[in-house]
Amino acid sequence: MENQTLIRVGLFSVCFLMLLLLEWRSPLVRYREVWTINRFTNMLFLLGTVGTSRLLISMSAVSAAAFAQSNDFGIFNVFPMHVGVSFIITLILLDFLIYLQHITMHAVPFLWRFHQIHHADERLDATTGFRFHPGEIFFSLAYKWLIVFLIGPSILAVVVFEIVLSSFSLFSHSNSKLLSRYQVILERVFITPQTHWIHHSVGVVESQKNFGFCLCLWDRLFKTYTCYTLPEVTRLKFGVADINAQGNNFQDMLLYPFRKIHCSNYLLRRSRRD
Ligand SMILES: [Zn+2]
Repeated sequence: MENQTLIRVGLFSVCFLMLLLLEWRSPLVRYREVWTINRFTNMLFLLGTVGTSRLLISMSAVSAAAFAQSNDFGIFNVFPMHVGVSFIITLILLDFLIYLQHITMHAVPFLWRFHQIHHADERLDATTGFRFHPGEIFFSLAYKWLIVFLIGPSILAVVVFEIVLSSFSLFSHSNSKLLSRYQVILERVFITPQTHWIHHSVGVVESQKNFGFCLCLWDRLFKTYTCYTLPEVTRLKFGVADINAQGNNFQDMLLYPFRKIHCSNYLLRRSRRD
């Protein structure tokens, strides 16, 4: 278990450094200042995520897989199948369930209180992938624990999924412009920065598109997919107007979900009704 943590931290660090390099060499938007206070705020959120995950280590998805395996619980433990087939099905199924989780974070006002802290970043880059309120990390851990326990996948499949999840979170928010020939190919299958940035727009309609985390299949299937040209994406404004009007520092962000607030029109349910 400790080995997989080291491998995950190592790969996560390599991925982050590679994205920093890509952001420097080929940014979607060339910012005047690279290391702003905003980036350091996002780094503090990473510490919050690490702290929450360490405190709740028994709630990790890997622990759930180990627990399900030793108790013969979960679909793949009750109905075993070829290891390669169950591995692929697990990755695709978890990707879909994370897509549903993201939609739920937008659709339920209580959960949106926490998720909007992630959306309040007005300047997107790889560190936006760190920016999750500890409350959202807690919900995410509980959700993943439950679904992994019910599916009963192999520990290896869950470890690989967690590596892909954290790497794609950095990649899809990063300020990196892919060569157009790669963008065209990748966006047919995966969520890229150019597609996920649309989801972070202050525009209500755009904020309810491109919920996927790795595959764009689910967005295409459930009609939440949209794609813009590069100039259209670089003209977008990001953030959550209600929060950004009140400041954007780390302490305010931590306390914001617990304040008496009116939940904004970024909520999925409300905008569909409008
Ligand atoms: Zn979102």
